[in-house]
Formats: sequence, structure tokens, C-alpha cells
Amino acid sequence: MDPFFIYTICFYIGVGITILSKFLSIFHWIILFLLNLYCNGLQWMKCTFLLRRHGCIGPWSLFSVVFGGLYLVANVMGILGWWPLSVTSSDAIKRTGYLALLNIMPLFISFDLSYIADSLYISLRASRDIHRLAGLTAICHIIAHLTIMLASGDYSQNTKWTDDSYISKYLSIICLTAGPIIGFIIIPLLQLRRKHYELSSWFHLILTASLVTGIFLHLQSEGLFKQAGFLRYIYIYGGVVTLSLILQAIVFLGRNIRGLSLPKARCRLVGDSVVVNLELPTEIKLRPGQYFRIWLPRVQLMSSHPFTVSTWSEQRQRNVRFIVEQRRGFTQELASTLDKKQESLKFTAIVSGPHGARICLRNFHYVVMIATGYGVVPMLAFMKKLLCRPYRGFRRMILIWEYFDFDSDLLEEIIKADFNNLLTLDNPPKRLCICVYDHMHHNPRVVGENNRFFYPEGSPKMDENFNVETGLTSTFENRCEANDKVLVIVSAKLNIRDEVRLKIQNTTAKATLKELDYQPYGAL
Ligand SMILES: Cc1cc2nc3c(=O)[nH]c(=O)nc-3n(C[C@H](O)[C@H](O)[C@H](O)COP(=O)(O)OP(=O)(O)OC[C@H]3O[C@@H](n4cnc5c(N)ncnc54)[C@H](O)[C@@H]3O)c2cc1C
Repeated sequence: MDPFFIYTICFYIGVGITILSKFLSIFHWIILFLLNLYCNGLQWMKCTFLLRRHGCIGPWSLFSVVFGGLYLVANVMGILGWWPLSVTSSDAIKRTGYLALLNIMPLFISFDLSYIADSLYISLRASRDIHRLAGLTAICHIIAHLTIMLASGDYSQNTKWTDDSYISKYLSIICLTAGPIIGFIIIPLLQLRRKHYELSSWFHLILTASLVTGIFLHLQSEGLFKQAGFLRYIYIYGGVVTLSLILQAIVFLGRNIRGLSLPKARCRLVGDSVVVNLELPTEIKLRPGQYFRIWLPRVQLMSSHPFTVSTWSEQRQRNVRFIVEQRRGFTQELASTLDKKQESLKFTAIVSGPHGARICLRNFHYVVMIATGYGVVPMLAFMKKLLCRPYRGFRRMILIWEYFDFDSDLLEEIIKADFNNLLTLDNPPKRLCICVYDHMHHNPRVVGENNRFFYPEGSPKMDENFNVETGLTSTFENRCEANDKVLVIVSAKLNIRDEVRLKIQNTTAKATLKELDYQPYGAL
């Protein structure tokens, strides 16, 4: 069978599952089953150390490398066909063109990558990686398409690469390899997105719009819109995208509009940071680690930003609290608006979410939370849930929190209000232990510490703090037993995440690592 045909079939099955999985819960179980299979496979192979580093390029999991590799091989084979290669230049032109379209099409299936991540039960980072891979592959196909067309002169002439048109063959190979090199090495080196996020988002949008216009004009000039077969596919695709966008719009509007009221965000300045209390028009059930995308048009007209919920309640919630670190753009504008008024302000907000975090706390005996800086925000919700609704078998949890430069007023508020409240909820006591590595030496005290709240010196050392085999830490009185399961939740900077991964890969304990969508210090 023609590899191009196989590729097309697989591609559409993948896209179909993406859309349906959101609305048919059976796919939820299929995907969970596959993920489970993958995790067990990884544990069995024990060879993931190099692939899972955060530091250089990555992090790459074995799954992402295999998936990415197969995807690229499928694309190249979609053009070249089976060995021995006998593809003509006009075949190659057609195939690169169709493959470019196939890769571009799913990129428009959603307004926001968070919806894709939620539908596929993957992390925001993974959905971003898939988006990037498909986009770059499409660009490679476009470059190859144009280059072969130019190099082969009259592309309707059936020239075999193996016979004469060596130049077009080598040029297309160069294009196919140059794209990934530019995409994966040069663009990340520029770090445009990290330094100027809004600028790079607009740049991305403008490039996308011009690309789509270019493709449309090209297809029109080639007369493809007059071909009934091609038009049929375009109509099907148009229908699928429209349906998907309508469903997302319904969810989005449902979250924002109830009667005539929109969500309201009451913002107050705490030191340099901002605490946002979002009042939603409807009550919703929230899971710890979930985040909302918040748009405050009065503060910044054209941008929305993700923030993680810092509260949890057994009941459905209408009021959600966020803790916002001041950076250089929107967050700085918000803080300076509040600073000028010297009071808390109420803004009309438009939100999407809750997105992300399907972390199952069930079946774990110990939970270890590791956070740096503002990474503590989602942990507050996890701790509250574990204390208010402990699952059967749950014994203890520990929070290891390190900060170097944290707003001192906010610190007082978190420690005095949140931690005190959590320690009060810790009844029967000693299910909770908090280790704070305070490099600013403020060391605010809490009431009722009772050997549950510590300020150790120095930095967290994974061997001492996180000795999974012998019971996680010296501060834990209970010792882990062979069958105890440990959940490790991380929202921390790169080197800590690397250390934790390494520790978990080399442990004999049954430890599961979950990295949250929010990782502080610009480590998106
Ligand atoms: C899932 C998720 C949850 C988050 N939760 C929190 C939280 O609870 N508290 C908190 O203080 N911060 C959180 N953040 C980070 C927060 O979104 C950014 O700090 C904020 O958007 C910065 O806005 P800015 O214009 O001031 O940033 P800038 O100073 O312009 O940029 C600083 C960095 O913020 C990131 N960023 C900027 N704009 C966006 C955007 N629209 N979308 C995504 N990232 C962006 C970029 O990495 C950029 O390098 C979260 C991020 C993500 C992805």
C-alpha cells in the first residue's frame, strides 16, 4: 500500500480521536490505559536517564522521542515511498504539498492549546511540543515543495530522481533536514518567547496569517478548488474545525456568561505581588493544580495569562484565589495600576478554564511536594485537599519549599494565613510536614508548629530530604514499607526537577512523579 495513503489514514484517525476524546468519555479510559502501558514500559526498561534531562534541550521522554521519530520518518516516507526509491519530481511536489496541508490542518482545530491538552489528557507542555512539531514539519514540506518545484523546472515532466534530477533530490533532502535544525536549535537559542512573550505571540500570529493566505492563493492558482475530490476534503475539514470551534466557544461562553454578569476579579497588592480573587458567574468543581487563563481588558487589552488556583474546597466553588508574581509585562501593569490607586480594585474579567492537572491522589501512601518560589501556589490547594479529603491508606505528606527572592509581605501572608490554616486542619496531627528553605532568613513563625514546620539551613538536598526508600526525610517518623506508594509533585526550577527525576529513576520505591503545568522561573 502507498505509504502516503497509510500516513493519511493514521493522521485522520489521530485527529478524530483528538476531537472525540473531549466528548466521549470512553477515550479517556483508552488514553489512560495507553499512558499506563507506557509508564510501566518505561519502568521495565530503566533507560530513560538521558532522555529525561531538563537542562539542555528538552525534557524529552522516551515516548516523545519515539513518537517524534516515527512522525518524522512517516513524513519522509510519505514523500519518498518504499525502497527502492522511484519517486518522480512531480510526485514529490504533489506529496510535499499534500503533506504540508495535512500537517497544518490540525493546528487550527482549537483557539487555545490548553483545550487540546485537556482533550488528549496530556500536559500543556506536551501539547505545545506537538503543535511545534507539526508546524515545523509543515514548514519543511513547504520549503521542499517550493525547492523541488524550482529545481525541477517543469514539474509536470516525469523525471526520476534516480536517473537525472540529482539536484532536486539533494535539495529536498537539505530542506527536510534544514527545517528541523532551524526549528529545534536556532529558534530556541534566540529565546525570543521567553524574553518577549507578547511580541513573539504576535509575530507567530502574523506569520500564520500570511502562511494561510499564501497557501490559499497557491491552491487557487493551481485550480485545486475546482476539483471535486479536493473540495470534498476541504468541506469535511471545514466542518470538523467549525464543529470543534463551536463546541469550544460554547464551553467558553458558558464559563463567562450567566445572565448579564461576567466574572469579576478583585485584585489587591501584597508587597510586590498581586492576589486575585476571581468571582465566577457559576459554581464549579476545581481540582488542585488546575489553572485559568485570565483576561483583564482594563489592564491589558490584547493578552490573556494563565494562573493556577491556590484554593480547594469540597464544595463547588464560585470564588477562586490566584497568587500572581510580578514580571515585566501584564503582571507589572496590574501591580502598578493597583499601586497608583493604593487600594484593591475590581475588574471585569474574561476567563477560560479550568484547564490542566488530572493528578489522581488516590492509592498513594505518601505525597511529597517540591516547590521553588511561586511554585508553592498550586501546592496550597493539594495540601488542603489531602487534609480535608484524605484517601484510604494515605499517611503523610511533606512540602519542601525553597525560595531565594520572595516577596516578604506575601511570605508573611502565606505562612501566617495559609500554613497556619493547614496546620489547624491537620487533625489528627502529623499528617503534614512543611520544610521551608528560606534564603532570605525572614523565618516567620507559625502557631502550633509542633514538629511539623521547619526552617532547615542551606538548600534542599535530595538525598537527605527525599530519601524515598527510607521514608522520604528524617523528619518523617513513619518509614516507608516495601509496598508503599509515593507521589511526588513538582513545581520547581530546572535543576531541582532534574535532581528529582534522577532520584526517582534510581529509586527502588514505588514513586510516581508529576510535574505541574506551572513551573516557575520561566521554565515553560
Ligand atoms: C499553566 C501555567 C500556570 C501559571 N500559574 C501561575 C501562577 O499561579 N502564579 C504566577 O505568578 N504565575 C503563573 N504562571 C506564569 C504566568 O502566566 C506568567 O508569569 C505571566 O503570564 C507573566 O505575564 P507578563 O506579561 O507579566 O510576563 P512577561 O514579563 O512579559 O514574561 C515573563 C514570562 O512569562 C511567560 N508568559 C508571559 N505571557 C504569557 C502568556 N500569555 N501565557 C503563558 N506564559 C506567559 C513567559 O514565559 C515569559 O518568559 C503560570 C504559567 C502557566 C503556563
